[in-house]
Amino acid sequence: MSRFLQHALAANPTHPSWNLPNGLCARWLAPGCVQLDGAPDDADSVLLSCGVHGNETAPIEVVDGILYDLAAGRLALNCRLLVIFANPQAIRDGARYSQYDMNRLFNGAHRAQPELAESQRAAQLETLAAGFFHAARKRRLHYDLHTAIRGSVFEKFAIYPYLHERSHSREQLAWLQQCGIEAVLLHSQPANTFSYFTSRHCAADAFTLELGKARPFGQNDLARFAGIDQALRKLLSTPDAAIAPLDAPSLPLFRAKYDLVKHSESFCLHLADSVENFTELPDGMLIADDGDTRYVAAGGAERILFPNPKVKPGLRAGIVVEPATLD
Ligand SMILES: [Zn+2]
Repeated sequence: MSRFLQHALAANPTHPSWNLPNGLCARWLAPGCVQLDGAPDDADSVLLSCGVHGNETAPIEVVDGILYDLAAGRLALNCRLLVIFANPQAIRDGARYSQYDMNRLFNGAHRAQPELAESQRAAQLETLAAGFFHAARKRRLHYDLHTAIRGSVFEKFAIYPYLHERSHSREQLAWLQQCGIEAVLLHSQPANTFSYFTSRHCAADAFTLELGKARPFGQNDLARFAGIDQALRKLLSTPDAAIAPLDAPSLPLFRAKYDLVKHSESFCLHLADSVENFTELPDGMLIADDGDTRYVAAGGAERILFPNPKVKPGLRAGIVVEPATLD
């Protein structure tokens, strides 16, 4: 563990500045939030966030390893870099969250429940991210790194937040492919996630990256994360390096068709607990019911994503997705 992660997880952290090799300076902006300065002002601005869900440890280890090598002078930094260990309390507890799922509280949703610890943190992270990107002069990039609760037909996939009038970036999709991302979900409506917030309100190219299955610290096979690790290191050290063009046929795209909303405690999901993300739903299959509401699969090409019947009523208990193409 680097001293960055140790500091991020300290019970009562102070906000020091640390001088690093190669003329870099690390500034703690808030608990778990460290900005590395030293690259030219007109460099790309990169926000790496991890631990929005505290039990998703592999991305924390990947980001920590990058910080470790930057601090040891083994990795050059030619971007402005903000690293956010998003939910230190949940990381310490080895829990997804303490009081409420933080990735449902961005985009201002925290204002409806200001008493929650995760709401206060989400508000703080929005302010920090907005400040960081406000000073950006070149590309604005945000990768919010996660692992999923369950297995997946596509082990590594990205969620591309809804862009409103903006168009999807083929260059970013090509970069994701270089990371080993195997599929991309193109969201078709706003969401209260960190990546939607920075996409919509900071004009960042922002993505939620699901990089495998969540395991406790020390039980991750970091070789399975080599693709994202190497791609991030290359981005930070040589941001202008050429990227192989997008090989569209080998990167399937999906779009969210509708959310399975759990309206009441009588919500019943008709899928096995072990069902993997992106499992195909046969035409006519009853996916879930909830009182008089029935969710039935249509067409045979739909797939299930993030099924979780245990969420609180009023929240999304899964997403039904279908194949998509770029505009
Ligand atoms: Zn997550």
